[in-house]
Amino acid sequence: MLRDSFGRHITYLRVSVTDRCNLRCFYCSAKDTFSWLPPEEILSYEEFLKIIRVALDLGVEKIRLTGGEPLVRKGLVAFVSEVARLPGLRDLSLTTNGVLLAETAAELKKAGLKRVNISLDTLRPERYATLCGKPYLHRVLQGIEAALKAGLSPVKINTVVLKGYNDDEIEALALLSLEMPVEVRFIEFMPVGEGAPWEDKAFLPAAEIKRRLEALGELKPVSSYGGGPAKTYVLPKARGKIGLITAMSEHFCHRCNRLRITPEGKLRPCLFSDQEIDLKPIVRQAGEEELKRAFSQALAIKPSSRLVNHQPKRLMRRIGG
Ligand code: SAM
Repeated sequence: MLRDSFGRHITYLRVSVTDRCNLRCFYCSAKDTFSWLPPEEILSYEEFLKIIRVALDLGVEKIRLTGGEPLVRKGLVAFVSEVARLPGLRDLSLTTNGVLLAETAAELKKAGLKRVNISLDTLRPERYATLCGKPYLHRVLQGIEAALKAGLSPVKINTVVLKGYNDDEIEALALLSLEMPVEVRFIEFMPVGEGAPWEDKAFLPAAEIKRRLEALGELKPVSSYGGGPAKTYVLPKARGKIGLITAMSEHFCHRCNRLRITPEGKLRPCLFSDQEIDLKPIVRQAGEEELKRAFSQALAIKPSSRLVNHQPKRLMRRIGG
């Protein structure tokens, strides 16, 4: 069992398989010139598997694959089927922008993926093209349908709320939970990534998001799937749910159960801290025992809570959001 020095039980590993992305979301990139890591810097699937095997052996139960955009990395479906077969795994999920999901959802499900989180910040095609840099809204909507049809469950839709950019669509996005059995989760904008355009004025607290949602009807609290970070509600007659992720206004560090691995193999104990442990030389040159020691080291330096007013240097797509 993995326990950190504050007694938190670590069961969840987020694995970012690539820093590459097929979108250019302005808040995720900013002055970043979209230079990608050279391929030799990124861990191979075999190397990720070696690390995940050790993590599962130590007590991790849930794996989430993310990026960059995980579906742009070749061979992801085969990787999913390898991970899905590992002993000790109880949950395998994917975070994606959904652009390539229509053509991959059924294969992913067959390979052993259980559930999917799809990022979607707007339902307006022109706004999507402006915010995300590509005119792909229709592809994402097809991806959501394909995920539901394939039986991936639950399907969650992640919306980062940016005041002045998409907050006028909070209600429209929430109404998706009436039409479809999806959980629409509103995420507070976070100051992550050196050079990323963190704007105080674009931050909208979850309390205000909730206030606006209440105009749609009574928000009945329900318990969240798997004890994740969202506070979950249901609107009258809804087929799905609504979630609020208060990453900034009310942090949930005391029940944080996660570690992250970046595409180049840095083990990151906290999204908001720049401390990392380099697993690449270990996975390339040493054995399982050394990897286990690296996990223990990560637990020892996992902070009790995130640093206030600290903007982590790494861009979100280089951490694995
Ligand atoms: N490409 C995948 C996707 O779009 O879901 C996975 C990586 S992406 C970095 C993961 C999530 O992080 C997306 O939902 C994105 O909107 C979110 N994100 C990026 N920058 C953020 C920020 N500063 N605050 C909150 N969420 C952010």
